[in-house]
Parts: sequence; structure tokens; C-alpha cells
Amino acid sequence: MSLSKLFLTALLAAVLAPTAGAQTPAATAPADLIVVNARVYTSDEARPLAEAFAVRDGKVAFVGSSREARAMAGGSTRVLDLNGRTVIPGMVDAHAHFGGLAQKLRVVDLIGVTSYDELIRRVAERAATLPKGTWVEGRGWDQNMWADGQWPTHEKLSAAVPDHPVSLVRVDGHAALVNAAAMRLANITAATADPMGGRLLRGANNEPTGVLVDNAEELVNRVIPPVGKEDTRKALLEAQSVMHGLGLTGVHDAGAGRAMIDLYEEMAQAGDINLRLYAMIGDDSAAISHYFNVGPRSSLYNGRLWVRSIKLYSDGALGSRGAALLEDYSDEPGTNGLLVSPPAHIQDVAERALQRGFQVNSHSIGDRGNRVVLDAYEKALDKHPLADHRFRIEHAQIIHYADIPRFAQLGVIPSMQASHQTSDMYWAGKRLGQERLLGAYAWRSLLNTGTIIPNGSDFPVEYVNPLISFHAAISRQDANNYPVGGWFPDQRMTREEALKSMTIWPAYSAFQEKELGSLTVGKHADFVVLDQDIMRVAPELVLNTQVLSTWVGGKSVYERKAQP
Ligand SMILES: [Zn+2]
Repeated sequence: MSLSKLFLTALLAAVLAPTAGAQTPAATAPADLIVVNARVYTSDEARPLAEAFAVRDGKVAFVGSSREARAMAGGSTRVLDLNGRTVIPGMVDAHAHFGGLAQKLRVVDLIGVTSYDELIRRVAERAATLPKGTWVEGRGWDQNMWADGQWPTHEKLSAAVPDHPVSLVRVDGHAALVNAAAMRLANITAATADPMGGRLLRGANNEPTGVLVDNAEELVNRVIPPVGKEDTRKALLEAQSVMHGLGLTGVHDAGAGRAMIDLYEEMAQAGDINLRLYAMIGDDSAAISHYFNVGPRSSLYNGRLWVRSIKLYSDGALGSRGAALLEDYSDEPGTNGLLVSPPAHIQDVAERALQRGFQVNSHSIGDRGNRVVLDAYEKALDKHPLADHRFRIEHAQIIHYADIPRFAQLGVIPSMQASHQTSDMYWAGKRLGQERLLGAYAWRSLLNTGTIIPNGSDFPVEYVNPLISFHAAISRQDANNYPVGGWFPDQRMTREEALKSMTIWPAYSAFQEKELGSLTVGKHADFVVLDQDIMRVAPELVLNTQVLSTWVGGKSVYERKAQP
């Protein structure tokens, strides 16, 4: 067959191939990557389950059968035969703190350390990675967990880490252990007097032992240099790889300042951000005015950064009784929480946002906090009607039954974290009483009104692993599968809903649904390979799931190493 005949045959085959919508393999350029022989949960209602897909130029080029996908292979195509393994779209955490996680990773984690030797080992390990003279900070130790239960003294730590000043804050924040190098820099000697409201623990000859209690911590804190941009950048990269390892390909960063957003942009521009990073602007008048002047910006640097939403706060948190309630706390009559912003401020920002094309996402925990925000949004929308505003309430934890239908009516999206339900359920009833619990973490009641629920974790307040919220969403149980049968199990999500709540619904709630959130032709090829099928495995086994690999824009950003 001549070359031109071959070409003609190929062309004819392409023309004559059955055209099942837009999902037919194009006979043009070969795919860069083909994933075959998999259970692909797409989060796309038009084709929820498929066997294979193909990727070209970072985008999904085909979804369908393995046979058709294989037909798109060329000489340089990578073929991933998954042998029946599960693929889901890249998971997106719709409410978390990227910078907060970076900050937490920057310091040595000492939570759960069971001996002073173990503490020293961890600190020395970190010091070895840092140039001499660099501060090593840590947090989380508790001497009550050690065999002798005694306060540590600095000598052993100072001997193991002589060349780096070290400051390690106790788990409760009320004491710090510092080494000799830190004391030298802070000029702490036997002659140093205890400051007002603070105390230096002392040994023989009045020598400080290195433990600084309460206000004495300030003696050292004031000589620790502020975290530089380079260190923050490194910590953000580390946070990003933690997220990749757990199957996250996107995050809605719930409130960042200008300096942080500038750094995100610098990193995205340099190609260092491998996440769909939806940055919410923190509530700061100057920053808000600045970004209103700049205007909304979407999908910057090939879909790496969005700056088009504002984070506000209506109230506090339930644990500390700061959540604003319509009636008093059940366990503290006379107290009903507090509003942290005047409702007029929320309405004012909402009005300006509607006129300038920005989204508003307000933190509200209590039923009064939620009502205040719904009222403020409603008034703003009355003045400046806009059908597709997608305003959100972050957390939407406790909602009065009369307000539940208002979300769908106003088009306000409840952005909820399933992990909060399982973290709070042990004591939420004490704060709220049985009746109010019916409107608490009420996913089913809200879904029944026709709204969507983007899911999230609120890390680093909670764990980063997005499957914790997936598991909670389908079971209303904690990681130990407590309580039996689930906590108010009627409020569960189905698995299909739970998967959407971490893929397409976050995308929609960030105006990204045309670009990501499902494995659909034309969208970014963000996906995760799992070692078991979270859509079919028993709910109590969901949290055993391992992420085998994570892909952003068709490129691998994480691959699990073989276990020894
Ligand atoms: Zn948060």
C-alpha cells in the first residue's frame, strides 16, 4: 500500500469511526499518556465509570475503553496498564491552609515523642540538614509522656546540637526548651532575672536549665529572626509534596495575606506550584481594595493560581464557645458566642465583590453566624443581583432548620469539612443539646435542597489526608469507625456524592469546573491511582487505602515507593 493510500485509509477510518460525542479518539497526534485496564471513576455524570483514558498536552484527550485508548498510542506514548486498579480525579481540598501546613512542617514535630533521647534525635536530624547557626524550632513535646516525667535540662541537647540555636515549644505553648547556643544569643545567664509573668527553671548556682516558662519564652523569641521568604518557599514545597503523597492536586487556601499570595504567584510563575491553588484573600481592608483594583484573575500560569475570592469571618469556633448561636450554649447559659465582624462589613464587602467579579467565602460555625451571613449576602444580592455569584459559607456547621433551604434559594454554597463532624461529635451535643444537633453537619438535609457541598479538611487544624473526610462523609464515623452505625447516620453522603464533594464540587465552587474536577475530555489530566476501590470497599476499610501515584496535568508528581 502506498503512503498516500495508507494515509487515506487512516483518514477514512477516522471519519467512519463511531462518534460517541466528543470522546472519540482523534486520529491526529498520538497521546502522551494512556491509562488502560483501570476502574476510572470520572466524576463526570455523562460517563461516571470508564476503563481507560488518554492524555495529550496535559489534558484529557479521550475517556472510554482500553482498546480505543490503546489505538491512540504512538512511538513515545507512555502506557500505564493498571491491572484493574482504581483511578479517581485529583482530589481538591476546598478549605485548608496551605501556608499553615508549610509553617507546621517548617518546625520539628515533637508531638507524641516518648523520651528526651527521641526528642534530641529528631532535633539533631533536622539540624544536620541546616547550615550552622540556623535556628531549629520545634513544637509539641510533653515531658509527662517520658519515663521519669521530669523537666528536661539543656545539657544533653546542647551537646548533641552545639552549632544551631534551638527553641522547642512545649505542647501547650506555655514553656520552651532552649539549648546553650540559643541562650548565648539571647544573653541568658545565671544573672538573668525572671521576667514579669515568666520564670526560668534553674539548677545549681542559679544556672538556667534551658526551660523557659510563660513570658520567659519571650527572652528567646525576640532573637529568633522572622521566617524569610526562602524558608517559606521551601516549606510550601514540602507542604505541596505532602499533599501530592495523599492524592491532593488542588487546594482552596482559606485566607492568605498579600505577601503570601505574592509568593504563590512568584512560585507559580517559576513553575514550582504543581497544584490548582485557589487562594482566598484574607480579610484586610487594604488587601481587599488592592485586589478589587487589580480585578479577578483566574487560571494563571497554566491553571496553577486563582485570585478571585475573599475570606471573611462571621463568628468563632464551637469548641471555645465562640460560634455565634441564636440561643444560649446548652452547657453555659448566658453565653451565645460572638460575632467577629459586624454584619454590615460582610454586606459591604459582598456588595463590592458583586460589582467587581469576586466571590465571597465567609467562615460561619453557629446558627446565628450562618444566619447573619445569609442575611448579609441576601441584602447585597438584592442591591446587585448576579445569578452566578457562587458565594460560599465556610464550615456552615450549625444551621437553624429555617435557614437550610436558604442556601439553595440564594445560590450560596455550604463549604463543609466532613472531618469536623467526626472531630466534634464527642462534645458537640454538650454545647448544643439534642435539638440543635439536627441542624449540625447536616449534609443530607442540605443536599436534599439541591445544593452541592464542597468537602475539605481545614488542615493543619485537621489531618491532610482527604480520605478522612471521604470516609466520614459516607459513614459519619471517626477513623476508628466509632460510633457503630454512625453519628446521625441519616446525614451521610452517598459514595458518589462524597467523591464529587472532593472533585467536581470544589471545582464548581471555585469557578473551575470547565477546567478540572472530573476526567472529561478537554480538562486538565489531574488524577490519582489508588490501591483499592474506595467506591466499593467496605466503609471501615476506606482509610487503609494507599495512594499509588498522583498526576497533575498528565505529569506524575508522586509515586509510591515499593514497601520493603
Ligand atoms: Zn480554616
